Amino acid sequence: MKHHRLVIATHNKGKIREFRRLLSALPADLFSLDQVGVTVTVAETGTTYEENASVKATSYARASGITTIADDSGIEVDALDGAPGVQSAVFTGPGQTDEQRTGRLLELVDHVSDPHRTARYRAILAVARPGGDCRTFEGVCEGRIIRRPRGEGGFGYDPIFLIPELSKTMAELTGEEKDRISHRGMAARAALPYLQSLLK
Ligand code: IMP
Repeated sequence: MKHHRLVIATHNKGKIREFRRLLSALPADLFSLDQVGVTVTVAETGTTYEENASVKATSYARASGITTIADDSGIEVDALDGAPGVQSAVFTGPGQTDEQRTGRLLELVDHVSDPHRTARYRAILAVARPGGDCRTFEGVCEGRIIRRPRGEGGFGYDPIFLIPELSKTMAELTGEEKDRISHRGMAARAALPYLQSLLK
């Protein structure tokens, strides 16, 4: 048992797994919303990642009374003018699977030639105090959309997101390899000094 507590405000199992690794050096136990008994759901109605991440973090910090970390993230495809972006989790409608969203994205870029299949993942991480203070941190990871899914790791769009420097999709990397280059890894490393200062 560590001395401090932090809440990770997400129901996405992939994100929780990554945050547990990325924040393991902190002197704090990490709790999911379920574990601290928070049942309210905050709607993601903002038009920017920053807005969504901040609203989630501040609402859940108030509800739990514990410093809370929330992430809002997405994939931005250049040939689709940056879509699905903030809508990445829901752009094919509610209740769909990662496979359905990935399949739809592949259809939308089917006509796009290889040099124009550039994309990036972006994550904004918000850290909110129960009293209302909130700070945000950003991470970006550049890649390309390939034509068929590859790999079993990660979550979401990872099987179709190629890291050109590694010639591997995000889903072909180990968790630790993904952390080193991912948008969430970058955002978490940017947030670590602030989190450490809060937990002194
Ligand atoms: P939200 O932040 O809850 O709105 O969801 C972000 C969505 O973007 C996820 O549901 C995924 O579809 C996608 N996404 C964000 N980060 C990643 C990642 O690291 N790998 C794959 N997909 C991601």
